[in-house]
This record gives sequence, C-alpha cells and structure tokens, in this order.
Amino acid sequence: MRPVYRHGMKIFAPKETDPIETRASLDPAAVKKLVGLGAEVVVESGLGDRCDHPDSSYEEAGATVTSDGNGALSSADIVTRIRKPSDEQVAKLKEGAIHISFLDPFNEKDLLGKFADQKSTAISLEMVPRTTLAQKMDAISSQANLAGYVSVIVAANRMNGIFPMMMTPAGTISPAKVFVVGIGVAGLQAIATAKRLGARVTAFDVREEALEQAESLGAKALRIDLGETGGTDQGYAKELTPEQLEKQRQAQAKVCAQSDVVITTAKVFGRKPPVLIKKDVVDNMQPGSVVVDLAAETGGNVEGVTPGEETETENGVKLVGLANFEGQVSKHASQVLAANFANMIEHFWDEESKAFKIDLEDEIQQGCVITHDGAIVHERFKD
Ligand code: NAD
Repeated sequence: MRPVYRHGMKIFAPKETDPIETRASLDPAAVKKLVGLGAEVVVESGLGDRCDHPDSSYEEAGATVTSDGNGALSSADIVTRIRKPSDEQVAKLKEGAIHISFLDPFNEKDLLGKFADQKSTAISLEMVPRTTLAQKMDAISSQANLAGYVSVIVAANRMNGIFPMMMTPAGTISPAKVFVVGIGVAGLQAIATAKRLGARVTAFDVREEALEQAESLGAKALRIDLGETGGTDQGYAKELTPEQLEKQRQAQAKVCAQSDVVITTAKVFGRKPPVLIKKDVVDNMQPGSVVVDLAAETGGNVEGVTPGEETETENGVKLVGLANFEGQVSKHASQVLAANFANMIEHFWDEESKAFKIDLEDEIQQGCVITHDGAIVHERFKD
C-alpha cells in the first residue's frame, strides 16, 4: 500500500534560546531552496540576528517571519533547530512532526523518551552516517571544520608573539611551534590554518591514516607506538586503554613543553573525550604559551581547562576552553549548517506529495532517526 503524506509541509526554524548560540539553523539561501521544493517556511523573528541575516532577508527569500514562536512550533511539520530542545519545547510538537537538531542522544535518554511520548520523529544530527551519500548533510563535519579554523585564529590572537618566521634587519623571529592533538576534521583544518599563517606544526592522532593526512599538509607527525588502536567502520577512533593513554601522555609531554600553541580536538564517538594533557604537562609549558581545547564543552582533553572560559595558570599559560568555537564565525557556520539541513530535507523530499518521507529502511535514516511513531526506533538507543 502506498503511504499517505500530508500536503503543504510547514518547516519552522525557531530562534535558538541558549545565549551562547550565535548560529541559525536556516539562512536565506536554505530558505530559498526549501521554498523551491514546495514547502512553506516560517522563521522566528530574530533568527539571524547574530549571523548577519535580518528578518527582511528571510522574507525576501520566501519565508514568513513570526513573533509567535510557540504557535509556529506547535503547527510545524518539520522543525530545524541547532541545540537540543527543552522538554517544554518537545511537548509543543504536534503528532508526527519531524524535529531535526543536535540531540546528544548518548546522554539524553529522558529527552528521547519525551520525543517518543509526543509521537514525533527526532532526527539527531550527530548520528548522520559518515557515508559519501550523507556527506552533504553531515553537520558534525561542517561545523568541526570551522571550529578548527577558529581555534588557530583564537590562539594567534591570544599569543604575545607571531606565527610566521620573519627575517628583518633587526633580527630573525622564529616561527611559532603549534602542536595539534587529534587530526580529524577539526584538527586537519587547524593544521592547514596554522601552516597558512606560517607556523611549524607537529600533530598526533591514534589513527595512522590521520598522521599521513597531517604530513600531506606539511605537518610533522608525532609517532607513538601504542600497539593496537584501530577505528570504527565510520572512521572514528576507538577508546584507548588506560595504559595506552598514559603512554601517549608521556610521549606528548616534551612536545607540549616546546610548543607555543597546543590545540586539542580529540574525541571518541559516544564517549567523554579522553584527558590527554594533565596539569603537570601544562605546568611545564613556557609562559605566554596558549592551549586551546576544542573538546572543552563536552568534558575536555586538557586538565584545568574550564568549559566556556579563558583562564591563565600560575606559570602564565593561557587556557582557552571556549564553547561553540564555530559560533565565532556564525555567518559561515550558519551557511554550511543551513545547507546541511536543506540538503537533508531535499534528499528525503517526495516530489509528488511535497513532503519529507520517513523511510526507516533507508540507510541514512536508520543511522539518524531516533524516535518515530511513539517509539525509540534507533537500534543503539532502543534499550
Ligand atoms: P572526532 O571528532 O570523533 O575525533 C577527532 C579526532 O580525535 C579523530 O581523528 C580521532 O582519531 C582523534 N582521537 C581520538 N582519541 C585520540 C587520542 N587519544 N589521541 C589523539 N587523537 C585522538 O573525529 P572526526 O573529526 O569527526 O572524524 C573522524 C574520521 O571520520 C576522520 O577520519 C574523518 O576523515 C572521517 N570522516 C568521514 C566522513 C565521510 O566519509 N562522510 C565525513 C566526516 C569525517
């Protein structure tokens, strides 16, 4: 039997409520694309205030701008949101509504239950599979790439020195030494950015292929014999044993002590990030050196870093634990994030019925649809 779809799907982009969030889930270009598919797009007034998109630019792209966020939320067929919603926001969704956002599903069991109770379909951006087909909707990557760029710009800005080598009549200034730990999407962009600014870069990752990628960008790879490390079928690293972690920390200590900037980006999918740099190593760094921890918001790679804050140790090392690094370049972060949302909706758009088609047999949806039709349907979170 052919499934029956509702017509005239209404897509709603609420303004983010977390004060730290500067990005918008839709930008005018994404609105244009969605309107072109035949959807009705509604955005909450002020959606783009912090990423240079005034309400008028959304209207010009074909959206309706509303000040009644709650009303729009409870009548929407699809909601695009960046940060996970509150219980109250979930309770406003109508039955069958599709809610797409970051969800932190490994740590938000209760929230998943709320979505199921509400009979709405929760799609988690973290769970979009790392496949070629799904790359265009991979928000983790689009944002990590920009966070990697920002980490270097912030470090360069906090340093009292410069990145490039300069040979001047008054003498030669040596290039900054940058150490990047974790060479995934963010780490690779950090390496590329630091190289562009003229730094000398060393990098480490538990995955050999990542070390080779770092070398191809001109970085020096730090090789530590940790024995078996391996990765998942999605390209993610596996968690190290406590012994392996200790060995890594010891081997990194000397590089940290000699670096002007240390940038950490190491994450292990579905787990707290590993602590890779302990206090004794930070205590051995030179005064004025800068540590930027991109994992700070989710637990941190560096001991002593405060999430969301910049602090300085007694020996004059600056510790940067900002949250939402990509939010510092909110216009471009919103551009690529909004494209991820629009690409996902377009990919699953049924031309005939002008609706987002839920198909739990589809490989991408099997990866990222968490709740549907009153139940938690994702294999990993069912129990
Ligand atoms: P991530 O954010 O989960 O982790 C960042 C990096 O930390 C990874 O490179 C990981 O190996 C590393 N790491 C973990 N433990 C570490 C430790 N103890 N010490 C040092 N480094 C450690 O990873 P990511 O940036 O999201 O990307 C992971 C992989 O997925 C990459 O190989 C990337 O190329 C791949 N990827 C594939 C696709 C696709 O095929 N569509 C899309 C995006 C990323």
